[in-house]
Amino acid sequence: MVVEQLNVAGLLRNRRLARAICDTGMAELRRLLGYKSTWYGCRLVVADPFFPSSKTCSACGWAKAKLTLAERTFCCETCGLVMDRDLNAARNLAKLVELIVAAGSGPEALNARGADRKTQSAGQVATKREPRKARSR
Ligand SMILES: [Zn+2]
Repeated sequence: MVVEQLNVAGLLRNRRLARAICDTGMAELRRLLGYKSTWYGCRLVVADPFFPSSKTCSACGWAKAKLTLAERTFCCETCGLVMDRDLNAARNLAKLVELIVAAGSGPEALNARGADRKTQSAGQVATKREPRKARSR
């Protein structure tokens, strides 16, 4: 499983996006994915906020210098790929996970830019919750 760590503080500076972003509860979703992935033995990869998932062509790897939020379709100027920007980003994130798995290492071993800088760990350490025992009287 892969999630993208977003620069939420930066996104909130956009007046048109601020309310919608606040309403989504992204931090809660991220928190849930963190501990539930641990519970179920799943690996959660957190992509660096600067990983260019939207700007990079998922077919050839060409990176667009500037992509405005209004551009909902990604158009590659090298190979001609035309795709929904979110689908293109999802494919790039899936490739990132493949790279990490192929490297046979933890998600912190390879960040989005291919450097060896450590990224944040996938989440909280989970403890299995047991139902409370009935009080004996
Ligand atoms: Zn391309």
